[in-house]
Amino acid sequence: MSLAERVAVVTGGSRGIGRAVCLELARQKACVVLCYAGRKSGAEETAKACERLGARVLAAQCDVAKEEEVQALMAKALSEFGRIDILVNNAGITRDGLLMTMKEEAFDQVVDTNLKGAFLCMKAAARPMMRQRYGRIINLSSVVGLRGNAGQVNYAASKAGIIGMTKSAARELASRGITVNAVAPGFVETDMTAGLPEQTKEALKKEIPMGRLGSAREIAQAVAFFAREESAYVTGQVLAVDGGMSM
Ligand code: NAP
Repeated sequence: MSLAERVAVVTGGSRGIGRAVCLELARQKACVVLCYAGRKSGAEETAKACERLGARVLAAQCDVAKEEEVQALMAKALSEFGRIDILVNNAGITRDGLLMTMKEEAFDQVVDTNLKGAFLCMKAAARPMMRQRYGRIINLSSVVGLRGNAGQVNYAASKAGIIGMTKSAARELASRGITVNAVAPGFVETDMTAGLPEQTKEALKKEIPMGRLGSAREIAQAVAFFAREESAYVTGQVLAVDGGMSM
């Protein structure tokens, strides 16, 4: 499988699932543009690992919740590589808390990053993709967007929103050769879940038919499937990669 000549923008590429996605796309010879919020060293590590795989890479700071920063990121990608073929909206955060005590700020921060961020990136990347009459957009949702989760009304709202947004954009962009799909991971071993108490992890595993958390690489494989040129007839879909948790 090769993505040679394809240019991919991956948000949140400094660690976790985003890093695994960058590496998988680099392995398939795509040019990779990755952004990060604050961890420059993590982004540089990802970039070096992509280069070792023979890929051309650009790493840039960009807060996906800020429209001017997103536009600057896409402009950098275009000036460096001339096109944008693949967009992976992976950047995401959690600010957990129960409904009755959650601060408005925690709700806004999560929705701004996870949902508005993906909207801003899709909007900015769709223009060059429409000109090219080619594009692959992959949005990261979550099992929590499908099932809900106590303590995560903000995160669940953002991840369920991603699904509606994915399907709407898929309908709007299909005639231009652009597919829009979502990957809904279950619980995956990254920094995002590292803080979960051991007891919670053990309880979670009982709910997962596979009996274990997923790996970032397993999520990256699903993202790479949607990114392929050959996946041209697959759009508006949500692929759960969750060890069977959401069925
Ligand atoms: P992670 O390890 O916490 O990494 C988050 C990434 O997002 C980092 O690269 C971070 O950059 C970046 N980021 C955060 N806020 C940003 C902003 N405002 N602008 C740009 N980048 C920003 O997360 P992960 O576990 O890999 O999760 C990746 C995606 O998968 C998220 O959308 C998450 O919701 C989703 N997901 C994860 C799980 C899971 O169990 N881990 C399950 C379902 C869905 P810095 O490093 O610079 O902070």
